[in-house]
Amino acid sequence: MFENLSDRLTDSLKHITGQAKLTEDNIKGTLREVRLALLEADVALLVVKDFISKVKDRAIGLDVSQHLNPGQEFVKIVREELEALMGEANEDLNLNAQPPAVIMMAGLQGAGKTTTVGKLGKFLKERHKKKVLVTSADIYRPAAIKQLETLATDLELEFHPSTGDQDPVDIANNAIADARRKQADVVIVDTAGRLHIDEEMMGEIKRLHAAINPVETLFVVDAMTGQDAANTAKAFNDALPLSGVILTKVDGDARGGAALSVRHITGKPIKFLGVGEKTDALEPFHPDRMASRILGMGDVLSLIEEAERKIDKQKAEKFAKKIKKGKGFNLEDFRDQLHQMKNMGGMTSLLDKLPGMGNLSQLAGDHLNEKMFDQMEAIINSMTPHERRFPDVINNSRKKRIATGSGTTLQDINRLLKQHKQMQKMMKKFSKKGAVANLMRGMGGMFGGGGPGGGMPPGGMPPGGMGGGMPPKF
Ligand code: GDP
Ligand code: MG
Repeated sequence: MFENLSDRLTDSLKHITGQAKLTEDNIKGTLREVRLALLEADVALLVVKDFISKVKDRAIGLDVSQHLNPGQEFVKIVREELEALMGEANEDLNLNAQPPAVIMMAGLQGAGKTTTVGKLGKFLKERHKKKVLVTSADIYRPAAIKQLETLATDLELEFHPSTGDQDPVDIANNAIADARRKQADVVIVDTAGRLHIDEEMMGEIKRLHAAINPVETLFVVDAMTGQDAANTAKAFNDALPLSGVILTKVDGDARGGAALSVRHITGKPIKFLGVGEKTDALEPFHPDRMASRILGMGDVLSLIEEAERKIDKQKAEKFAKKIKKGKGFNLEDFRDQLHQMKNMGGMTSLLDKLPGMGNLSQLAGDHLNEKMFDQMEAIINSMTPHERRFPDVINNSRKKRIATGSGTTLQDINRLLKQHKQMQKMMKKFSKKGAVANLMRGMGGMFGGGGPGGGMPPGGMPPGGMGGGMPPKF
């Protein structure tokens, strides 16, 4: 999502960052381009108008800080307004209720409700240690109940069975009673959707809502439907007191219009993003990070969080200590890093989140992923332990041997050694920061200078700093 918008915005802002002075003219031109970029991303017109007028007002009354030039300050305004548009901070689920806390899903058919019930159940179980019970009030399609049952079984969530001849209100009430008996903390009620909004569906969901009075009423909506998503959200929001929105299929080629419109139009926060069909493809939504991502600064904070979850902490700490002590970053460490990256979902998912790398991930495609890691690992494995620790001793004839041993070419060996050098340099530079920050820096460095596939631009991470502050200089 957001690739095009991101490109367009960075392009249009490129011209203004270097400006020492903001004039009526350069503001006007840039604003026009920003406006077009947003419209092309399928952001609702009303939202675009409001956004542009806010940015304009602020740019005109600009109070330039010591650190930024007016052009940079302008970009900062755009970033902050993007963030505000999507809703200032991540809004958690409110589960402060006499247990069980009831969560109700609402949305059109095919939006991803049932899938999201599973994802959210897993999320609450694993990250918040909640005992979760799920039930389906979708009585129109027998397969829908079965679908949830299968999910619940796979994810080891409590499941309250239902049948097509029951009333949705009874199903939900029975499930809540069942949850109380089983001392579950949370009940998630899946509901039926229609292809379009119709009165019957709205009537039923209103009745269900009134009967079970959920603490969270989450509207699930397909991000690929663009600004239409925002309009559907509005219709649901008018009928029901929604507490939040979950945008699904953000992994597809959604243009971003939904994410940028839905908050403004409904006044309700986006709480989660669905980023894939798998049950762990659910991410808490962070407007600030998304704004950075849109402006090509990469979702570095999400990446760090993910790293903290998936990376072997002990190894990472040992590694950080070593670097801090000023010891070199050798090829064995490099191989460890490759392992960690593989654990984190491979190159495509990493590239997506690294600043300015959004587009490259598409180019890189899946084939780059595993194969590239495997190849790099094979190269390092073909070296002697001494060579891994002191790569400088590797001469040309050894390189040829290593290439033969690993089924690669001399070029591959040279590239790997170059990447390693680059990363080593990065490590040194940032050795005073925290452990994980270090790792991430290193990874950024790895993609710099001739990176994988040879076609990546130099630079890696933004010079502006880790996940905050200003966008990279354009
Ligand atoms: P429901 O009718 O609202 O219950 O929708 P389902 O949960 O049955 O999902 C409809 C389809 O969308 C299924 O094929 C899901 O696998 C798919 N889906 C749901 N969420 C996502 C997502 O975040 N990303 C992708 N790529 N597919 C999703
Ligand atoms: Mg369903």
